Amino acid sequence: MASYVCWKCRKKFDSAEIATGIRCPYCGNKILFKETPPVLKKISTD
Ligand SMILES: [Zn+2]
Repeated sequence: MASYVCWKCRKKFDSAEIATGIRCPYCGNKILFKETPPVLKKISTD
C-alpha cells in the first residue's frame, strides 16, 4: 500500500483512491510524490 502526496495541494491519499489513474483526487494534479515512511536516524552532530 503506497501513499502519495500531491505536489500542488499537499494532500495525502492512498494509491487505492486513485485506481483510475495516477492523479490527485482533490485537485486533479498529476504530479505526485510517493510518500516514504519516516525514517528514524540517529544523527550525531558532535
Ligand atoms: Zn492535489
